[in-house]
Amino acid sequence: MTDSTSDSLAPGDIAGPREAALLARIAELETRLNVDTQTGCFTRQYFVGRFEGRARAGDELFFLDIDDFKGVNDHHGHLVGDRLLHEIGQALKAAVGPAGFVTRLSGDEFLVLLEQPGPETADGVETALHAAAARATVRLGDLVVTRTVSMGRITLRPGMTRAEAMSLADSALMDAKAAGKNRCSRTARPGSARNPSLEEVRLGLQRGEIGYHLQPILRCGDRAVAGHEALLRWERPSGEVLGPAGFLQTMTAAYDARTRPPLEAARRAADWAVRQRGGFIAFNVSEAFLDRAAREGLDWVGELIGDAPRPRIVFELVEDILTERFDQVAKVVARLQELGIRVALDDFGTGFSSLERLQSIRVDFVKIDRRFLHGAAQSDRDRELLRGMIEISHKLGAATVVEGVENESHFALARELGATHAQGFHLGRPRAI
Ligand code: C2E
Ligand code: CA
Ligand code: CA
Repeated sequence: MTDSTSDSLAPGDIAGPREAALLARIAELETRLNVDTQTGCFTRQYFVGRFEGRARAGDELFFLDIDDFKGVNDHHGHLVGDRLLHEIGQALKAAVGPAGFVTRLSGDEFLVLLEQPGPETADGVETALHAAAARATVRLGDLVVTRTVSMGRITLRPGMTRAEAMSLADSALMDAKAAGKNRCSRTARPGSARNPSLEEVRLGLQRGEIGYHLQPILRCGDRAVAGHEALLRWERPSGEVLGPAGFLQTMTAAYDARTRPPLEAARRAADWAVRQRGGFIAFNVSEAFLDRAAREGLDWVGELIGDAPRPRIVFELVEDILTERFDQVAKVVARLQELGIRVALDDFGTGFSSLERLQSIRVDFVKIDRRFLHGAAQSDRDRELLRGMIEISHKLGAATVVEGVENESHFALARELGATHAQGFHLGRPRAI
């Protein structure tokens, strides 16, 4: 898919001053995205980078959640909730001091990572975190609003991935909550609603509860549906629909003879998108996919996509994997393209090493993470950055999908900046087929 590539670069062309300036600006935006403005703590994005770069066996990870925080918002309003979050964030930072760093994960959840603390320091920080959170207050006249925190705590083991560490610590947090809150647990609790156990995931797969919802991707020019992205969903018998954040890690880590990707659902989704709707279907592929491709080649991809015409299939690879396993990814991408399958680089801008490297992989689509569009809607500088990212992608021979279109002006902006495609809740939510 090369809608927009009349002036493609030849390999080796790209390290010009304009591109270098663009890289520097991407880096600058990333820095701004490292600190959460509301609490002064680091952001999830920062945590990911630092964990990948530095975390080692023996580090201690705490997963914290403010007890009954929803009640603060419900009873006193969001302004008070926001102020309390700020106070608690600051208090947690002070409690940790130089022993580590505090991340606001989302809403009222925080992570604390202590780097090689030794048992006494870690225990001391645990006590200090409880005390500091409970002391943080917002005063409203005579009324004092405070909250306690619950925590899960784990020690990193050799080879533990970030997802494993977070999932274990989260599970220990669930245990602390279940045991009555305002405490710290080191015991992972199997099978909590947020963290389904491997057995539950297996059962969900066997019963066909795990499948795909499809979200349209539109062409900016004529607003026509160009294709769909398949997004994993687990429709629990209770009627609850879980997104991939709740179970993807458990599922892909567990692939074996008994636990297989939901292939039938994938074939059904491909059939619906390609035959009934026309256009392409894009599947996200995980590291497990790459591992299998490296081990067994790609003859088995037919199981995934059935007899859908190969050029109608797009595989989306996140930039993270590309950064970590470049050579392997490059081979798999080339092989997929030989089969006629197209490749998208997903979450572009969230972790890339260099444009030069990018140049040696010819992706068909570059998907630009939604934070860049949202930034561009707010400032001229970020708008120029997004324009530059789009231009560069086109020069690399790829079409562009701007993600996160949540209103009409986002769509207008994506179009004005030259993106070929756009995706987002405003253009169509992920839906069951
Ligand atoms: P992604 O590939 O970046 O997918 C887009 C995510 O953004 C989806 O979240 C989608 O629901 C959400 N989204 C779409 N439009 C908008 C918008 O306008 N605003 C906002 N705020 N969000 C929007 P979802 O479905 O929760 O998926 C999260 C991530 O999980 C995906 O991010 C992808 O990395 C991964 N994932 C999803 N399905 C699969 C799968 O089948 N296999 C693998 N390996 N990963 C998957
Ligand atoms: Ca994707
Ligand atoms: Ca994406």
